[in-house]
Amino acid sequence: MNKAFCRENDSLAPPSCPECGTLGMQVSTETLAAHVNPSDTDTLCEPSYWCSHATCQVAYFDLLERTITVAKAHHLIWPKDPSAPLCPCTGLFCVDVETDLQEGTPLRVRRAIEHAEKKNGSCGLASPDGRACTAAVLQYYMRRQSGSAIRQRSQ
Ligand SMILES: [Zn+2]
Repeated sequence: MNKAFCRENDSLAPPSCPECGTLGMQVSTETLAAHVNPSDTDTLCEPSYWCSHATCQVAYFDLLERTITVAKAHHLIWPKDPSAPLCPCTGLFCVDVETDLQEGTPLRVRRAIEHAEKKNGSCGLASPDGRACTAAVLQYYMRRQSGSAIRQRSQ
């Protein structure tokens, strides 16, 4: 598969999603191919971008504002796909983080992060944005943790 390089992204900032305006995260052809059917990958040209907006129906897009929707992509992550794991490489779900918070020890979160660090580069393909999931896992954990702390204080 030899993909056409449509045009250079001549501005320094990443392009915005044509649907919701969120700044795109550039993904490699390998990442795109891991989440989209071969017939659909050819509908975008390089470079292609991931829209990280939680509820936007666009998964990938290119500089010509052509898109591949969430419905046409697979193996996505929460919150884009509410039933998908937070971290596809380790299979950590939001509910696992909630269990950790209830138990008061970040056992599952810690295990997932250790696993992701060990796997290092291979996380990129499992994750639809091509980035390691550790940041997203930690962010979710911290947000839920401070959320529950606020709830406890106000009780
Ligand atoms: Zn979007």
